[in-house]
Amino acid sequence: MVDVVVVGAGFAGLAAARELVRLGHDVVVVEGRDRVGGRSYTGELAGTPVDLGATFVGPTQDAVLALAAELGCERVPTYGRGKNLIRWRGRVRSYRSTIPRLSILELVDVSRIQWRFDRISRKVPVAEPWTSPIAADLDAISLDQWLRSVHAGASTRDLMAIMARVTWGCEPDAVSMLHAVRYVKAAGGLGRMLDVEGGAQQDRFPAGTQQIAVRMADELGDRVVLGAAVTGIRRHRDGTMTVAWPRGEFTARAVVVAIPPAHRAGIEFDPPLPPEHQELTRHWPQGHLSKAYAAYDKPFWRDNGCSGEALSDEGPVFITFDVSPGDTGPGILLGFTDSRMFDPLPSDKRREVALAGFAALFGEAAARPIDYLDHCWGAEQFAPGGPTAAVPPGSWTTHGRWLRTPVEAIFWAGTETADQWTGFLDGAVRSGVRAAGEAHQELTRRS
Ligand SMILES: Cc1cc2nc3c(=O)[nH]c(=O)nc-3n(C[C@H](O)[C@H](O)[C@H](O)COP(=O)(O)OP(=O)(O)OC[C@H]3O[C@@H](n4cnc5c(N)ncnc54)[C@H](O)[C@@H]3O)c2cc1C
Repeated sequence: MVDVVVVGAGFAGLAAARELVRLGHDVVVVEGRDRVGGRSYTGELAGTPVDLGATFVGPTQDAVLALAAELGCERVPTYGRGKNLIRWRGRVRSYRSTIPRLSILELVDVSRIQWRFDRISRKVPVAEPWTSPIAADLDAISLDQWLRSVHAGASTRDLMAIMARVTWGCEPDAVSMLHAVRYVKAAGGLGRMLDVEGGAQQDRFPAGTQQIAVRMADELGDRVVLGAAVTGIRRHRDGTMTVAWPRGEFTARAVVVAIPPAHRAGIEFDPPLPPEHQELTRHWPQGHLSKAYAAYDKPFWRDNGCSGEALSDEGPVFITFDVSPGDTGPGILLGFTDSRMFDPLPSDKRREVALAGFAALFGEAAARPIDYLDHCWGAEQFAPGGPTAAVPPGSWTTHGRWLRTPVEAIFWAGTETADQWTGFLDGAVRSGVRAAGEAHQELTRRS
């Protein structure tokens, strides 16, 4: 018997548990995987830590930045010296800053669409987007339908498709325009979300982001139970609840469920959740994104004046970054890959197409790495998907109000429930602290 069981040991669940301990409660965290961190997962390539999930942080992500600093995790700027590359319509060109070198007409169109997008977002309150006077109209269409309705040019649409792939792990026709606008506003606007310097990709952690989760878990000690995929939450007449997994159970006075909304469907609630909550889990699907890393003796592209940052309209590698530990080696390229064509391939073929993508941008030397690693989040056996939810048209206006509405003493956390930096590590931390506060209030009220 504990005060609170937290389901999920991602950033949200661990931050919730930490806050609850700080508030004086008995807590356990039950995690289905055999590791903590969730969508933050650090692997190793050529002896260097590489993030297979979340990598970057940036200004105004104050919750995760403060947490990392408190836990003593070193942060470095993302390498960005030199020219960026764009592979567009079969040609590779270089550019600087966030907006790639396109024709004047194309650039004007990109600015026009960005301006219209930002103006719309002013009318959408992040906390309750369904209350906006234009919510029904925006939620009736996809991002793609909106782009077509405002006659966005082909290049603008292709750039927005790249943004949708890396942001939600889906195509623009799969995500609601209301979700797109609300999500970007929660990140502080398109510039803040997409930029490296001054934006969400500004910094990274040389030892990886998962160390932050590992350090939170170390603090919590044996309060964290791994390999415990929760299958049931039973609510009893006396207000307590039993949280069960195949090999054990805990009884608690409150529960914080810190997993993506879609994964709530994997838990049998008894009595069942209200129908509105059940419908929500069916209409909040996770997107799919994959990553490929290649390591070289040294970051050879730097010698050619390249930053390692690139965009491509030809898949499967569609965005790259240089995440090398230094100038001397190893050189490490990170590529975001399009899961639709990448994930179904066998591992040797995935390596082949990813290296071909790097080589098309950085030259033939990129086809001969000393090490290679990839990860397909959509193909995970347990709790698949990511980076975050790809919320389709209709979901926010029909189900949005239930996203974090408690059911008795069950509270909901997870980056998808955040109002600031939702979808990011920062949103996850904020959501955990918020849900812990709600659970604390409920426990205080009852005692
Ligand atoms: C490829 C990729 C790149 C990304 N890049 C960035 C980035 O650069 N910067 C950034 O800020 N964010 C990034 N993100 C997003 C970031 O990883 C997430 O926003 C964040 O990790 C979400 O944390 P969370 O705690 O809300 O959820 P999760 O990390 O998903 O944690 C939920 C945990 O619950 C567990 N779980 C699920 N169901 C159950 C169950 N029934 N019982 C027990 N446990 C369960 C899961 O195993 C998981 O460990 C990226 C994500 C991906 C996939």
